[in-house]
Amino acid sequence: MADILNCLIIGSGPAGYTAAIYAARAGMNPVLYTGKEPGGQLMITTDVENYPGYPDGIMGPAMMEHFQKQAERFGTKVNYEVIARVDFSGPVHKVYTESEEEILAHTVIISTGASAKWLGLESETRLMNKGVSACAVCDGFFYKGTDVVVVGAGDTAAEEASYLAKLCPNVHMLVRRDEMRASKIMQKRVMNTPNITIHWNTEAEEILGEEEVEGVRVVNNKTGEKKEIAIKGFFTAIGHKPNTGIFKDWLDMDGAGYLINVPDSAKTNIPGVFVSGDAQDNVYRQAVTAAGTGCMAALDAERYLAAKEII
Ligand code: NDP
Repeated sequence: MADILNCLIIGSGPAGYTAAIYAARAGMNPVLYTGKEPGGQLMITTDVENYPGYPDGIMGPAMMEHFQKQAERFGTKVNYEVIARVDFSGPVHKVYTESEEEILAHTVIISTGASAKWLGLESETRLMNKGVSACAVCDGFFYKGTDVVVVGAGDTAAEEASYLAKLCPNVHMLVRRDEMRASKIMQKRVMNTPNITIHWNTEAEEILGEEEVEGVRVVNNKTGEKKEIAIKGFFTAIGHKPNTGIFKDWLDMDGAGYLINVPDSAKTNIPGVFVSGDAQDNVYRQAVTAAGTGCMAALDAERYLAAKEII
């Protein structure tokens, strides 16, 4: 019979690597599978200025390199493979890679994160990190004193617009319908903020600029009227999708696919399976909060193994 790992970690963002650091130092010999996007969402971020411990800021990819090095220093084994399916039916958990290799583990820590949804414009991809962002809290500061656009009409868009309105002279919200999905209180807030302009029935057609964002061409989907708005920052806030599809037959999740943890813990409904990071958080979504829950998951996993006298 194949060896049974003490701790298998799925995902390689701040949550996964923090879980790995704690698990490795606790003698759990963790094995981490990076998934399709090693390093996670921070790999598509430039400067990170709000992660404590970096007084001068750090580039997202460099920070993830540090996370990985620190996890490996204590013996974490990192595999650059994708987990394609899981079987949580027994006391020993079974996890399968894309090449159908079976891995057995006493505990599994899920840190698969979430991915921002994008509009899918060619100009959006081309100008990513050159003015295009999906996180105002992360990147808004870089556009201080300039005009910006926020696309979306949910709570995230409303929150991002309110945040940016404190930094930027003019915030333009592009709302594709004639009403907003955001909660009434958030709608009221954006509508009562003098430097937020809501463009109803309006969609981004193209983000303008060669090397960096210089403007956006928008179209009114009722009248067909087009216009250009000069901006430096373009924030897409049309929702996130948690990367949790492979767990849907096993783990409790909400309607949007976020995994549900037992309150005040990283436990899921399956003993020995723990969750951390954006896969279970659609509210805070910060590197530092993800790292915090990664730590919780490793501590919970360690207690689980100790209670079963496996370690
Ligand atoms: P939502 O799914 O609620 O909203 C997405 C918004 O993006 C909708 O207004 C949608 O428009 C719009 N949209 C989607 N696709 C496009 C597109 N291609 N072009 C233009 N617009 C598009 O996502 P959120 O991230 O805002 O919120 C997710 C969840 O998190 C919600 O339950 C929300 O309440 C919660 N949340 C709570 C917060 C809080 O309590 N402080 C803060 C942030 C989020 P349309 O309405 O036309 O479909």
